[in-house]
Amino acid sequence: MSDLERDPAETLGSGDCDGPALEVLEGREVVLGRTTTVRRLLPNKDRRMVGAWCFVDHYGPEDLSSRVDSYGVPGERGMLVPPHPHTSLQTVSWLFEGEIEHRDSVGSHAMVRPGELNIMTAGDGIAHSEVSTPTAPPRLHGAQLWVALPDSVRTTTPPTFNAYADLPRVEFDGARGTVMMGTVAGATSPAPAYTPLVGADLTIDAGGTLDLPLEPAYEYAVLVVDGELSVGELTPGFGEMVYIGARREEIRLVASRNGVRFLLLGGEPFEEQLVMWWNFIGRSHDDIVAARNAWQDAISAGGNERFRMVPGYDGDPLPAPPLPATTLKPRPRSR
Ligand code: MN
Repeated sequence: MSDLERDPAETLGSGDCDGPALEVLEGREVVLGRTTTVRRLLPNKDRRMVGAWCFVDHYGPEDLSSRVDSYGVPGERGMLVPPHPHTSLQTVSWLFEGEIEHRDSVGSHAMVRPGELNIMTAGDGIAHSEVSTPTAPPRLHGAQLWVALPDSVRTTTPPTFNAYADLPRVEFDGARGTVMMGTVAGATSPAPAYTPLVGADLTIDAGGTLDLPLEPAYEYAVLVVDGELSVGELTPGFGEMVYIGARREEIRLVASRNGVRFLLLGGEPFEEQLVMWWNFIGRSHDDIVAARNAWQDAISAGGNERFRMVPGYDGDPLPAPPLPATTLKPRPRSR
């Protein structure tokens, strides 16, 4: 007789009467390159993933027009991320305000804009750059998300980029939103997904209540990007994330007096253990070493079989940092 429950402990110790416990996932500030500071919500020390969502950076809102250097001269504006590689994941770029220029090694050139989904599937290897152009609007606010690819497809899915300007919308009484990936209340995104998951950008009117239908097989998290939300006994505000465990039919979300906007991320718990290092995902230390070697070789060779360079980008690609002296170990989705 085996234990068929995936995480029996999670059903215990609930502070909320109609489901498993809620957890606050604290963000931490990370400086990216020279110009961008983000709040990293995933991976989190105790909970590395929510469904296949394995990386959540939230940045802004930031007024780029006020940036000046120490001489008072307007400085570099906003996002400036040179070409860098990814493996075994999808990048999901989502903006609330502003504009970012995306280029990648399969030849895509796209402007990332609010409410439009830009999703890049790395397969075994892709490279991309993300920059704020001089003509971008002055305010920048967004999220950079990664979805882990399952082992069955991670090296065989061809590197691709998809952009969706016209995503499905959902309407509730006093709440509404855009479905980025998966299905919310019967509305399904056309974006490619390789495990059962969902992502949505939802808004609840001031003082409103949303009884959000959930898929009981999914675990979820909410990331508040504007205003304040009440979920169970917790009241996450700007930049705060709350983990909502699986086995719920719905959850009651209440907006503060000013209303609330938040990302809903969820999916079937991702049981494969991952090695995540820099911009690579693998299943072993050797996977990461091979990806790093291939990228460093691609930089000096001007591209190779695994990583092509990013056409149209004016500047040098980003070299990988040195590997740690220790062996990278696969980690489970939670501790
Ligand atoms: Mn990237």
